[in-house]
Amino acid sequence: MNIINKTAKISAALLTGNEAIAAGAYKAGVHVATGYPGTPSSEILPYLARFNNTIVNWSINEKTALEIAIGASIGYKRSMFTTKHVGLNVASDPLMTLAITGVRGGIVIVTADDPAMHSSQNEQDNRFYSKFAKVPMFEPSDSNECFEFTYEAFEISERFDTPVIIRTTTRISHSKSIVHIEPAYLPNMNSNLENKKFLPKKKPYIKDIEKFVMAPVYARKRHKIAIERLKKLQEFSNNSGINKIEYNSLDFGAITSGISYQYVKEIAPFASVLKLPFSYPLPDLLVKEFVKRVKSVIIVEELEPFIQNEISSIGINLMGKEFFNRFGELTPDMVKEGLISAGFIKKYDNKSSGKLQGKGGLSKLDSLLEKLPQRLPALCSGCPHTSVFYALKKLRVPVMGDIGCYTLGALPPLNAMDSCISMGLAFGAAQGLSLSNSSPKKIAGIMGDSTFFHSGITSLIDAKYNNACFTAIILDNSTTAMTGGQDHPGTGKNLSPGKVVSNKIDIKRVVEGIGIDEIYIIDPYNYNVVYKTLKKALSSKNLNVIITKRPCILYPVKIDLGKKFKILEGCNGCNLCMQIGCPSILNSDNFLDNNKPIPFIDSSCIGCSICKDICVFNFIEEIKS
Ligand code: SF4
Ligand code: SF4
Repeated sequence: MNIINKTAKISAALLTGNEAIAAGAYKAGVHVATGYPGTPSSEILPYLARFNNTIVNWSINEKTALEIAIGASIGYKRSMFTTKHVGLNVASDPLMTLAITGVRGGIVIVTADDPAMHSSQNEQDNRFYSKFAKVPMFEPSDSNECFEFTYEAFEISERFDTPVIIRTTTRISHSKSIVHIEPAYLPNMNSNLENKKFLPKKKPYIKDIEKFVMAPVYARKRHKIAIERLKKLQEFSNNSGINKIEYNSLDFGAITSGISYQYVKEIAPFASVLKLPFSYPLPDLLVKEFVKRVKSVIIVEELEPFIQNEISSIGINLMGKEFFNRFGELTPDMVKEGLISAGFIKKYDNKSSGKLQGKGGLSKLDSLLEKLPQRLPALCSGCPHTSVFYALKKLRVPVMGDIGCYTLGALPPLNAMDSCISMGLAFGAAQGLSLSNSSPKKIAGIMGDSTFFHSGITSLIDAKYNNACFTAIILDNSTTAMTGGQDHPGTGKNLSPGKVVSNKIDIKRVVEGIGIDEIYIIDPYNYNVVYKTLKKALSSKNLNVIITKRPCILYPVKIDLGKKFKILEGCNGCNLCMQIGCPSILNSDNFLDNNKPIPFIDSSCIGCSICKDICVFNFIEEIKS
């Protein structure tokens, strides 16, 4: 965070969208904030944890996180739940009913979508959740709007008795832009500030079963209330001034929201724009006014035709998705090309920002990427998961995988994972595969420690309950590595030190508690033990669990074991060591007589010694100083 001017009453601070959301929530007096890490949402809670007077915690999964937020709201406190897009699927059960109970303290749900799947298994457009649940939604276009609309979302939540969704995308969450903010709402500058904006005066707890017990008799009434609420929200959407028309040329106009608004302003600064930061419910009257005054109107939005469908539902058919992809991110070049194809701007219109770059529909970025050599992502040098995947590959068993860094075990050269579909799927899928007619006898399911806590526990209980037989592998590296090293129940730490005491949950004791007797705990840096243990466990007639224990080499601190390994002269070029995919082992420019390249180990080696065990010819050894 860069503070550009901290002396004025209003500072100009350079914040990411995620930081600005945290600051907005703090300004609104959020009391409890929960979530599960997931790119691109992960930075919101750690930033919020830097403020005083707020309880900020990682939860075991998104469903539990939202449930905690709901409980705090029932206790009259403002609460916030943050997630990446797929996490809202996990929390959708409480969301759909929260939508009809409404709230006491305001509830804001932040969903950070990931168009182009930079770090996700799918590309869903979570704007549909607002319509599905009948709850209002904000789509900020920059960090300042993230700050202002988060504050506003809490106000609206209480005013209309509804949870409010803030939907961002990767570009909004991770890009920095100027936020006009009171210094008191920046971390480390507010130690004496008691945020009293929403501190309910110790309200006595009041039971209200008609509002919060959704038995059919009450749920039917609440559903009608939620539908009535939508009408009031639509009125607000039309009249609050949050959605607004920026008139310019009356020949050409665009209706847009989120990051697409920035691209439209860059590419077609001469156009009139109907900007929809409060995109659900649709401001129908504003749309009608806009299309009445502006001759040609197009809808510019990323991913699905959400706004287009809403506008068409009020009987207005406009162009939109015919000219823009329904997948991936939009870029300024793509917006430009879409507007040219739709006939809204001429190919080399000098009022727009320069000539169209790329050829045949390729954006500037795509053209550059085309020229770069392809490189697959790989596990880190010394990653403790390496030996497990190499052994699984050798054992040739089907491996039901999961979501985490270790998904990279599916890629060459390891090629040791057969599925990766959703969080916590591995053990359920392993049980299912074992029930299929085509199932081989030996099957493995594999997931990390954070994923095990998130949603692996339940499927392991199910496997025991239903007498399944497979090997469940839990890669315990004591962190949530893929999203940047967040804590979880197995680490015994959380985000608000001193405010909430965390207890460390022992995975082995959880597994024992399920009633599984065959448990192996091994060090993944000992490849021979890994291989032998896997072989034994896979041959067992019982459901069994292998827990590999070694900290991630990046989080919470970067590990270097202080050793370096080298490949000795005489190496026969068999290529075995290259098969573990350690980025420190590379092919040199030297070749043997039989044309096989001779590998070498570069200085990025952290000294895990896995490759030493892999080279059965003993041509790898530690460098002695
Ligand atoms: S010891 Fe071998 S496997 Fe481990 S980091 Fe070094 S080169 Fe990679
Ligand atoms: S495994 Fe051993 S013999 Fe084979 S290429 Fe690597 S160092 Fe050389």
